[in-house]
Amino acid sequence: SGVLYIVPTPIGNLTDISERAISTLQQVDAIAAEDTRHSRPLMQHLGVKTKMFALHEHNEGQQLQTIVQQLEQGQSLALISDAGTPLISDPGYLIVRECRQQGIKVVALPGACAITTALSGAGLATDRFTFEGFLAAKPQQRKKQLRELSQEQRTLVFYESPHRILHTLADIDSDFDSERPLVLARELTKQFETYLHGTASELLARLQSDPNQQRGEMVLMISGYKPATDSAGEIPVRVQQALKLLSEELP
Ligand code: SAM
Repeated sequence: SGVLYIVPTPIGNLTDISERAISTLQQVDAIAAEDTRHSRPLMQHLGVKTKMFALHEHNEGQQLQTIVQQLEQGQSLALISDAGTPLISDPGYLIVRECRQQGIKVVALPGACAITTALSGAGLATDRFTFEGFLAAKPQQRKKQLRELSQEQRTLVFYESPHRILHTLADIDSDFDSERPLVLARELTKQFETYLHGTASELLARLQSDPNQQRGEMVLMISGYKPATDSAGEIPVRVQQALKLLSEELP
């Protein structure tokens, strides 16, 4: 049977694509693209003339059997998304799972991904991190998710939308310890690439005073929770938080 190639594309800078990715896209029988109109200019730029068809979150389930059949008949396919690595907050999971179950060869190429780009440039600990994708759109759900992560010791990584970033920062400001370092990585690999460092309240003030900083594509990272050690004679953060809550209740 054929091979399903998972091919990352750039996240902003058109030259961030490997030679192997380009030759794979040229050689396969067809390219399954999240949005063919979106990917056409890139394919033209790369000199890729391979035919494309749409594979997005709304038809991935329906397309599954057709794609598996094509692969079983010996055709090779490449899967791409609008930007970066397929399956990372992008379609492809159903098809890769099905190929694995059917014994069809899957070859994933390494390449651009906003998570690793943001983390490697942020200056936060990277030895252990947890990617949380996009937070829920509904305020109550988002607050709950954040509260559950407030004692997570690994660096937290989120994809975030410009429409919600102010709300998210406000929620972090109210539910995390106030000194927690954050980094907001915006427009990575593009002309206005920016890393903003600060606490949630500092970033909130910065974004409110400069609405340009609310625009574009962004990755939000939060330094992991550091349990305070008693050896320094300090009051542990959890106890501080409990005291703060109690003091608010006192007359
Ligand atoms: N598959 C992609 C990847 O490998 O990074 C992610 C797709 S997800 C639908 C899109 C989100 O990724 C954006 O909303 C943003 O949070 C993040 N993102 C993508 N490109 C970015 C960039 N150039 N700078 C900052 N964040 C980016």
